[in-house]
Amino acid sequence: MSKTITLLGSTGSIGTQSLDVIRAQGYRVHGLAANSRVEMLAQQVQEFQPDWVAVVDEAAADKMESLLAGMPSPPRLLRGPEGLIELARHPVDAVLNAVVGIAGLGATLAAIESHNDVALANKESLVTGGHLVTEAVRRNGVHLLPVDSEHSAIFQCLQDAHSAKTLTKILLTASGGPFFGMKREQLAGKTRADALKHPNWNMGAKITIDSASLMNKGLELIEAVWLFGLPPEKIQIVVQRQSIIHSMVQFSDNSVLAQLGVPDMRIPIQYALTWPERVPGPAPELDFTTLKQLTFDVADEETFRCLAACKKAIAKGGLAPCAANGANEEAVRLFLEDKIGFLDIGRLVEAVVDSESFGGTYTLPDVYECDRMARSFVLAHI
Ligand code: NAD
Ligand code: MG
Repeated sequence: MSKTITLLGSTGSIGTQSLDVIRAQGYRVHGLAANSRVEMLAQQVQEFQPDWVAVVDEAAADKMESLLAGMPSPPRLLRGPEGLIELARHPVDAVLNAVVGIAGLGATLAAIESHNDVALANKESLVTGGHLVTEAVRRNGVHLLPVDSEHSAIFQCLQDAHSAKTLTKILLTASGGPFFGMKREQLAGKTRADALKHPNWNMGAKITIDSASLMNKGLELIEAVWLFGLPPEKIQIVVQRQSIIHSMVQFSDNSVLAQLGVPDMRIPIQYALTWPERVPGPAPELDFTTLKQLTFDVADEETFRCLAACKKAIAKGGLAPCAANGANEEAVRLFLEDKIGFLDIGRLVEAVVDSESFGGTYTLPDVYECDRMARSFVLAHI
């Protein structure tokens, strides 16, 4: 079935893999959005011929305007963070949100409020505003389809509605990242280049650092709480070094279901777009003649404090996860600029979470205020 898709964050790792899926399925693209890589965005425009493009960075939007001027029938251009939100509001079959960071939250909410289904890669939307996002989904009766590979795996394992009612545990798998097995002394000197070498996945810089620090697994635990409604203590992190088992679920009779596949994001991206159907796609099959072993380990929260901090944050509730996320976004930025050490990321995230109680329910302005507070906290404590 042909579908019309808006893709936010089209120039990123998930964005470009989403275009592979869109190309393979022959879907129509209504809109594309990116922050600043306009040369790449212009090439995507030539190929996919969207009706609209949105460019968030102002200087990049000026550049995009001149690039579009040279095209025969160019799409209309939207600018800035407001442009991104406006594009998310246009009616389509699905808005695929592959923006990185809290910058994606407004677009997720705007898409849902306009009755669009959302295929969500931007886990930060649920971490920072989980209550607002899930409430908006319920009120507008739309589908929120996970793109994150673990959450897609869990979602795939829960398609049988009878069993889903008896879900007792989620086994959220983690690759362990490039620093698996190391202790704090070894982590202290790790550089940006060390942390950017992920063993199994090729991803954007921010999530690659998050994978090295296990912040990504902490964010995913919070994401799973919002998507599947289990309390955090029923979500167990299982290190699965090969990234072949993408997550598992356990039912009341202690039967466990797992979803497996090659580590290729085009499988979960495609499932989010074709659900509830399955269709052939561009990802290769899993080869059991070369796959020698599947290993399982326990995550080391004593060493990887980001994971411990995220657990504390979701237990506190309210805006605590938003604070953890804001502190992490700022700390990762500083780490990528060689301004803080690797262990400082966990120290700062944990310190923010410990700094106050963070209250109960919240509004969207509260979320942005908490994000600002967490970022200034980090800058004041480096
Ligand atoms: P990336 O850095 O490769 O791409 C990010 C995209 O977001 C780019 O298109 C960029 O232009 C856009 N962007 C950046 N800042 C923006 C802003 N302020 N406003 C609007 N757009 C902005 O990141 P990625 O690895 O593709 O990750 C995207 C999201 O998907 C993240 O939330 C990440 O956690 C999640 N995710 C990624 C993977 C993966 O394999 N890469 C897997 C699971 C989940
Ligand atoms: Mg993931």
